[in-house]
Amino acid sequence: MADSSKRCKNCGDRMQNFRKLTDGEYDYVLAQVGRAEAGNYRRCDNGRCRRVQHYFRFGEGFTLPDSFR
Ligand SMILES: [Zn+2]
Repeated sequence: MADSSKRCKNCGDRMQNFRKLTDGEYDYVLAQVGRAEAGNYRRCDNGRCRRVQHYFRFGEGFTLPDSFR
């Protein structure tokens, strides 16, 4: 499926579009989850939402710190 919408816990568990990480976001995620998984992470594209999560497993993820607005 090419559908980029995924369930976002930070957005009331509704479906949201997720986009690829910027370089700065990727570096942060890399430090959290390691190289094997960082490339599978996407960020919620809903305005100011800062959740990043695994593309295939929406339950795996976390919220980026305030500096990533
Ligand atoms: Zn969200």
